[in-house]
Amino acid sequence: MQNSFFDTKIEYLKGVGTQKANLLGLELQLFTYGDLLTHYPFRHEDRTKFYDIGEITEDYPYVQLKGKITDIQLLGSSDKKKRLSAKLEDSTGIVELVWFQGIQWVQPKLKRGYEYIVFGKPQLFGKIFNIAHPEIELFLEHKTPETALSPVYPSTVKLQKRFLDSKGIGILVKNLLEICYDKIPETLSNELIEKYKFIPKNEAIKQMHFPKSPKTLHQAVRRLKFEEFFFIQLKLLWQKTVRKHTHQGQILKSTAILTDFYNNHLPFDLTNAQKRVIKEIYKDLCSGKQMNRLLQGDVGSGKTMVAFICMLIAIANDAQACLMAPTEILADQHYKGLKEYADKMKITIAKLTGSSKTSERKVIHEMLRNGDLKIIIGTHALIEEEVMFHNLGLCVIDEQHRFGVAQRAALWKKNERKELPPPHVLVMTATPIPRTLAMTLYGDLDVSTIDELPAGRKPIQTMHFYDANRLKVFGFLKKQIELGRQVYIVYPLIEESEALDYKNLMDGFESISRAFPEYPISIVHGQMKPQDKDFEMQRFVKNETKIMVATTVIEVGVNVPNASVMVIEDAQRFGLSQLHQLRGRVGRGAEQSYCILMTNYKLSKEGKIRTETMVRTNNGFEIADIDLKLRGPGDLDGTQQSGVLDLRLGDIAKDQIILQEARKTAEELLDKDPNLSLPENVFIKRHLTSVQQGGKVWSRIS
Ligand code: ADP
Ligand code: MG
Repeated sequence: MQNSFFDTKIEYLKGVGTQKANLLGLELQLFTYGDLLTHYPFRHEDRTKFYDIGEITEDYPYVQLKGKITDIQLLGSSDKKKRLSAKLEDSTGIVELVWFQGIQWVQPKLKRGYEYIVFGKPQLFGKIFNIAHPEIELFLEHKTPETALSPVYPSTVKLQKRFLDSKGIGILVKNLLEICYDKIPETLSNELIEKYKFIPKNEAIKQMHFPKSPKTLHQAVRRLKFEEFFFIQLKLLWQKTVRKHTHQGQILKSTAILTDFYNNHLPFDLTNAQKRVIKEIYKDLCSGKQMNRLLQGDVGSGKTMVAFICMLIAIANDAQACLMAPTEILADQHYKGLKEYADKMKITIAKLTGSSKTSERKVIHEMLRNGDLKIIIGTHALIEEEVMFHNLGLCVIDEQHRFGVAQRAALWKKNERKELPPPHVLVMTATPIPRTLAMTLYGDLDVSTIDELPAGRKPIQTMHFYDANRLKVFGFLKKQIELGRQVYIVYPLIEESEALDYKNLMDGFESISRAFPEYPISIVHGQMKPQDKDFEMQRFVKNETKIMVATTVIEVGVNVPNASVMVIEDAQRFGLSQLHQLRGRVGRGAEQSYCILMTNYKLSKEGKIRTETMVRTNNGFEIADIDLKLRGPGDLDGTQQSGVLDLRLGDIAKDQIILQEARKTAEELLDKDPNLSLPENVFIKRHLTSVQQGGKVWSRIS
């Protein structure tokens, strides 16, 4: 193995030894040379630059100052409250330096009237800036710093006690670079290096740790980030290619029933976006390869109809289709919606959920096995072992984020006759994510996007009110109800403080009951039994109750066209995408719909951006973009499974341009050299192979 040098245990490195090696392993998961080499600093400090005390603002993370110590005082009486305070002064101002610990070490070092170099994070206390536990060093004229930018490494308290603070780790990295610099293999082709004007790999790693200048640091970061994204993309694309070559799919070519459906039953014209994605899906269904496709579209964009049409294609080809939803309520809604069409077309359809009766189940199981039942709609109950199909041709999974990869995989094995290929899979999600990101996160899926809403929808009007204006809002709700509409009022439910949230909800329910004594009100929350929840939900659906007070259980998919007002309480506690999802519960009927965001006056900067964004736009993709920028991708659906977030340097939200470049480059490379067998791609192939084998060292080096 050409890489074995980098698998050398870290204890053999000069300056380490067994004890420190154990500690490095325990504390930072650094086991080998390779691990240490890619233990990159999380930032660099410019130790050539001194700030003027007078120019410090609260926005400065860390500053290096040079000044005279003018005053030293030991303050506080009891041992616990004791602190050492010193004033540092330059020609522009004064800061206070304070120590709460280690006073006995620091105090003797401080001498009034001498010049010191001080490094730390300034904080404003009253009118004067204050630096707690600064690094401090007597200023010596002749001592010049070695490099402009010194690395700051992640470390831990335990390591610091063993002299493995940032500086100590830096020394180890330096020792390592001395013996390994020439051994670091190149991982990109000459062609790519020239095209992007990259510095060589070994130089990039060196500059990443010990940059000569801000410019070389930038070059190093650029190259290493690119490379990180590039190999992830290459791996995903490679997997997709392999899957397409190995998994056959049923060819579902006939569209016999579609004409009947289009001509006689479809109650509206499909949007162009719907037509386009149906074509994309149809192409997959005819390809002979198994389809794994993500269908994303904003709330209300009509994904269900697309799914149903695809199910009809499966049925036209003598196959069966299933639709799996994350909750009973949703499964029920889909069932009721689609049964209407299925009945008219004499297609058998049934529902299977956790609450289906045993006798019902038996019949359903039997009919799925012998192929009499064409469409089954349900919840998790569909992936139970007893459920087997005569010929399952298409699985539709609604609201993907509630289901994991494992559940997707379980559906692959639902055909009794093993000679049948696995079913085609269509995953639907209503959480739009930016397209490039979708390709990355769901790298193993193809992506279709419905980016258009059916014509004639009145855009939802969104308004923001402070809690103090609640009466005004109640007045508005009253008017809407008098006009015959229904209203949702949603409370946040965040698990950590469930009891408190529950109390909020109940208090809210009470005050609403008092404000609207003349109207029947429903309440639905997570602590209710499913039957009770369902009962209340149904009362609202039937327009027996006018107001639905609920937690976010109603977030996903619920469809009550007559409900035209969505009030979101404590809106600042919701993420943007979630707010948008909730808003999507209204605007489903012919009437003008409204979304009202209630917050208190204390809105964070982010909270303000979120409410302003909601008021300004209804476009889910635009909202997703902003959400990504605000929160980073960690909270986006599917990210956990993708491995894409396992990044050392790159940041999906901030580095979108590099990410796109890397993606494009990987695509072009595989187009040109699908097996990576050309001689100029030998480095890339070698590296990809070790990444795929999960070769720890080299997956990290990428
Ligand atoms: P989502 O994409 O959020 O799942 P749905 O599939 O629930 O949206 O569709 C929302 C509503 O829009 C449904 O009542 C559906 O019948 C209707 N709908 C779907 N497609 C069209 C269309 N092309 N024109 C008009 N209404 C449509
Ligand atoms: Mg839906």
